Amino acid sequence: EIRVQGLHKSFGDNHVLRGIDLEIAQGEVVCVIGPSGSGKSTLLRCVNLLEEPTEGQVFVGGTEVTDPDVDIDAVRRRIGMVFQQFNLFPHLSVTENLTLPQRRVLRRDKAAAERVAAENLARVGLAEKAGAYPSALSGGQQQRVAIARALAMGPEVMLFDEPTSALDPELVGDVLAVMRSLAREGMTMMVVTHEMSFAREVADRVVFMDGGVIVEQGRPEQVIGAPRHERTRHFLSRIL
Ligand code: ATP
Ligand code: MG
Repeated sequence: EIRVQGLHKSFGDNHVLRGIDLEIAQGEVVCVIGPSGSGKSTLLRCVNLLEEPTEGQVFVGGTEVTDPDVDIDAVRRRIGMVFQQFNLFPHLSVTENLTLPQRRVLRRDKAAAERVAAENLARVGLAEKAGAYPSALSGGQQQRVAIARALAMGPEVMLFDEPTSALDPELVGDVLAVMRSLAREGMTMMVVTHEMSFAREVADRVVFMDGGVIVEQGRPEQVIGAPRHERTRHFLSRIL
């Protein structure tokens, strides 16, 4: 599970996160929505220490990741992250993209890494693309490879930062389907997204952020269907 307490993050005098408290239970799917610049990516990046919080604490599975003595690499191993840009290695095959981090970070041998790669490619519906290079894949397929690469590390939680925003509309559905099945398998997920139909259907909870704070949160049908706050209503009126 993930627990964020009193989290602040400033970049110089830009006070981006202004006191975030958030708990995500094991197996829970939380979608984070909000306008551009509200701090959604910064929040995700603080959870896996791609950004160092200015103040506050973050716990993942009971370990305080903001503890200065924590082994950052050990923490990151437990957290899978998928970005808008897929960041695959272009000169490596799909299988090699999945085996490289397992071998480097987890010290798995080649055979074990390849077995885990194959399992996870099957999980995202791309078993037949094992030998392909990223340039031969559609954006949606590349993003599913990126998801499989993260899953191959055996993470306890998965963070997604607008995973479908760079995709052509007709490719979005396949990626969301993979995320939906992950949610059904009980993965703990924190998903920054503008896909309101996905949030309504899959999220256990929706969190609306604006100006570096959580303005409201609750069941998707409540936050998206019947928002309590004017800022939430205003945001939704522009994107729905
Ligand atoms: P979007 O919907 O556009 O992705 P967001 O909610 O993810 O927006 P963030 O990317 O978290 O917003 O950015 C919040 C603020 O933090 C912005 O003002 C941004 O300029 C600033 N910011 C983010 N990362 C950095 C950084 N590495 N250095 C300086 N400022 C940053
Ligand atoms: Mg962002």
